[in-house]
Amino acid sequence: MLLNKARLLTPGPTPLPEQVRLALAKDAVHHREHAFSDLLLKVEEQLKVLFGTSEPVLPLASSGTGAMTAAVDSLFAPGDKVIVINAGKFGERWSMIARARGLQVVELCYEWGLAANPEDIEACLEENRDARGLFVQLSETSTGVLHPVKDIAAKLKNTGVMLIVDGISGVGICPCPMDEWGIDCLVTGSQKGLMLPPGLAFIALSERAWKAAEKNRGSFYFNLPKERANLAKGQTNFTTPVNLIQGLDAAMDLLLGEGLDTLYRKQWALTCMVRTGALALDLPLFAPTHYAWGVTSIMLPAGVDGDKLLKVAADECGIVFAGGQDHYKGRMVRFGHMGWVDWADALAGLHALAHGLRASGGFSASRDYLETALSAYHRALDVEPGRVIPDVRS
Ligand SMILES: *Cc1c(COP(=O)(O)O)cnc(C)c1O
Repeated sequence: MLLNKARLLTPGPTPLPEQVRLALAKDAVHHREHAFSDLLLKVEEQLKVLFGTSEPVLPLASSGTGAMTAAVDSLFAPGDKVIVINAGKFGERWSMIARARGLQVVELCYEWGLAANPEDIEACLEENRDARGLFVQLSETSTGVLHPVKDIAAKLKNTGVMLIVDGISGVGICPCPMDEWGIDCLVTGSQKGLMLPPGLAFIALSERAWKAAEKNRGSFYFNLPKERANLAKGQTNFTTPVNLIQGLDAAMDLLLGEGLDTLYRKQWALTCMVRTGALALDLPLFAPTHYAWGVTSIMLPAGVDGDKLLKVAADECGIVFAGGQDHYKGRMVRFGHMGWVDWADALAGLHALAHGLRASGGFSASRDYLETALSAYHRALDVEPGRVIPDVRS
C-alpha cells in the first residue's frame, strides 16, 4: 500500500542478500552428482573457518532445533546426568529435548535478562560430579543475552564434562572459536547469521564428542558418524536441500570475503548503534551488561501497547520486529540486527521504533536519536569489538 520495502529486523529469519537469492534460483543439481560433491566439500572448508574447528561441520536438513536434538541424542544415553543453563526460552528448550531423551536434567536457572555466571557453574559441577554434559546458548535469543561461553568452557576444562553450545543466533554474528575455547559441540541454523532461508542446520563435534557419538549412534535420521563418513566423500545420508547448499556457497563467500574480523566488527558496531539509539529514545535495555550482538531486547514503558507498536512498525514503515516471549509478550521489542543487516537498515529500524512508540501510547523523543545512533556506529567501528559501549545518557 505504501510501497515500503519489507525489512526483517527479527532474530531469524533474516534478510537474504541478492547473491544468495540468485544462487537459490539456480537449477537444482542432483545430490549424488560430482558437481554437488565438489560444492559441498568447498562450503565444508568455509564452515570450518566460521566454526573455528578442524573437525567436520555437518549440514543437516532440519531447522536449528533438529541439530539441538541430534546433539542430545548422539552424545548421551538415557539416564545420563546433564546440566542445563536455563535463562530463557531456548535454555528451556535444551531441558525439554534432554528430558525427551530420558536424561537426568539439573537446571541452573537465571532470571530472564541475566547471563550465566561461571562461578555458579563451578559450584554446580561440585554438587554434580557425575554430570556428563553442560548445555548453554551462545546468545539467548529470547532475552538478548550473551552467555560467557569462553569463561564457561574454561571452568569445564579437565572435568570430563562436555560443553554443548547452541550457537543458532551467534555463529557468524559474534566470535565463538570452537577448538580454541574448548567447545565439544556447536550447532547453528541457516536462517540467522548465515543469511539463508530456514531449512538447514549445522553441527560440529570435538574429538571426544565424536567418541561419545560413535557409542550412542543418535537416531536413524540423525546418525552423525554415518553423516561424517558420507561428508568425507562430499555426500549426505539423505537428499540434502541442494538449493540451500547452493545458497550457502554464496553466503559463505560473503561472510568470509572480508575476513571474520570485519564481519564481527560490523556486528559489534550495529549492536552499539541500536543500543545507543534505544537509549536515546529513553527506552531501557533489557540485557544491560552481557548483551547479544545480533538482537537487542528493548523494554517498553508502562502504557505502551507493544503489539500495536509492532503492527504500526510493520504496516506503516515496513519494519518487522519480534516482540517479547512468554511473560514479556507485549512489553518488549526484540530488534534483530543479524545477518544481512547494515547501518541503513538499523537507521530505518530505529525510526520505525520511534514512530511505533508514538502511535502506541509512548512519547515523542525530542533528541536526535538517529544522529546519535549513527555516530555510535562509526565510533564502534574504530574500537576493539566487545568494549562496553558508552551510555548516551551520561
Ligand atoms: C532460533 C533459535 C533456535 C530455534 O531454531 P529453529 O530453527 O527455529 O529450530 C534455537 N536456539 C536459538 C538460540 C535460536 O535463536
